[in-house]
Amino acid sequence: MEKLYLYNTLNKRKEEFRPLVDNKVGLYTCGPTVYNYAHIGNLRTYIFEDILKRVLLYNGYKVKHIMNITDVGHLTGDMNMGEDKLELGAKREGKTAWEIAEFYTKAFNEDVSKLNILKPDKQPKATDYIQEQIDLIKKLEKKGYTYKTSDGIYFDTAKFKNYNKLSHLKLDELKEGARVERNLEKKNPTDFALWKFSEPLTPPSLRATSPYKEEDKISRRQMEWESPWGVGFPGWHIECSAMSLKLLGKQLDIHCGGIDHINIHHTNEIAQSEAATGRKFFNYWLHGAFLNIAGGKKMAKSDENFLTLENALVKKGINPLAYRYGALSTHYRKPMEYSEEAIRSAQKGLDKLWKKIMELKEQKAEGKDRKVNAEFKIQFLKVINDDLNTPKALALVQKVLKSDLSPEEKFATVLDFDQVLGLGLDIIKIRVEKSVIFKWDIEGTQPEAARLLKLREKARAEKNWPESDRLREEIEKLGYSVEDTKEGMRIKKI
Ligand code: AMP
Ligand code: ZN
Repeated sequence: MEKLYLYNTLNKRKEEFRPLVDNKVGLYTCGPTVYNYAHIGNLRTYIFEDILKRVLLYNGYKVKHIMNITDVGHLTGDMNMGEDKLELGAKREGKTAWEIAEFYTKAFNEDVSKLNILKPDKQPKATDYIQEQIDLIKKLEKKGYTYKTSDGIYFDTAKFKNYNKLSHLKLDELKEGARVERNLEKKNPTDFALWKFSEPLTPPSLRATSPYKEEDKISRRQMEWESPWGVGFPGWHIECSAMSLKLLGKQLDIHCGGIDHINIHHTNEIAQSEAATGRKFFNYWLHGAFLNIAGGKKMAKSDENFLTLENALVKKGINPLAYRYGALSTHYRKPMEYSEEAIRSAQKGLDKLWKKIMELKEQKAEGKDRKVNAEFKIQFLKVINDDLNTPKALALVQKVLKSDLSPEEKFATVLDFDQVLGLGLDIIKIRVEKSVIFKWDIEGTQPEAARLLKLREKARAEKNWPESDRLREEIEKLGYSVEDTKEGMRIKKI
């Protein structure tokens, strides 16, 4: 068996992956903050994590995957300041924070399903684990890692040795980064809130550097809980520690997110978890690079360049899987540039691949006795086990298709690879949408209509007009209208 190597941010090198318990893997991926739609940058990170999970499964591991839903405590400033993003979403849309969370969790799950991302085993909500978070803070308090300010309970990062072990930054650099969110009551700039009070003890107007606005004085929060320290809500970082410790138990193998999580969120998760338990918190830390927009700027929800799956792809008639294909063409640790042109070229690449698979299907390559080519499988394992090298894996797919293997063997081998790639090759059929140009796609349609459409396309290419007319009539009998346009046949369900 090929060994699996993953780049571990903790040690800044590729390392052989070894799980803590037998052939089982505990995988924790930081999930979305559900106050808005996910943008395609966020979705790039979830695609990378999906590839990781599929590679683990392909290697025969039994994976327990937890992805949390952040529905409280993530403030507009990642450390401790600003407004809770959920409460902000509630104000923006005139709904309750709970409604906002429910709506955007559903939207998120629809997006990831369109990208063929496997579902986690559990998707716990931070608001369902308040007690676990309070218990963890109590432990930290008992061990002397916490202190109180007028707006909450804070973790004293100076008390935790090797606070910078994930970021590898000098402490001064980390402090400098943290100074963006000034809070004069903190002992160290890197200290972060574990619990925040709904009503700060000092009125915001009396604070030296208050990020609060006048109206915050009167508005109590929608999401708040009783705690030993007063009514309030948990800080953002504590939820991932509490839920991963509770749900993965001893299987703290791999923890992932985007690179922006390294210096603050994951650094703080490690500090508070290891301080509380006295044990190592996750052995492997993997981080995906950003999706940038032209000029290398990071895509962010607060920007005007906030592209969702819906507005960047679906509305433009581009299949979401083309984005997945595009994401796989770039290694997950390299920045990816977004442009409409790049997406359209990914769509073309995927269309070509689907077409090849359909041709193999037409050659009856789907037979039951199909077998995967052993040599290509070894090559495939080598590239994906080398820190998830998906660009090389895609190149290998082309190599298989161009090889002199029999159609059956080609089909079986590429479909085997698709367990990792997730490009829908197993379910591809010709789709006829309400009103779209005839094209290769997944999702079912009437197989007979699809077959006739294909024949008609061929007849037209051969300028066999009588045959083309005859086929049109046949297709119409099945309940579709056919219009010939410059781009191809436009099919409508009547
Ligand atoms: P959030 O919903 O803001 O908590 O982010 C969800 C995930 O998306 C996190 O793992 C982030 O690190 C990641 N992320 C945020 N912006 C980008 C981006 N432009 N490209 C790739 N991943 C991102
Ligand atoms: Zn997290």
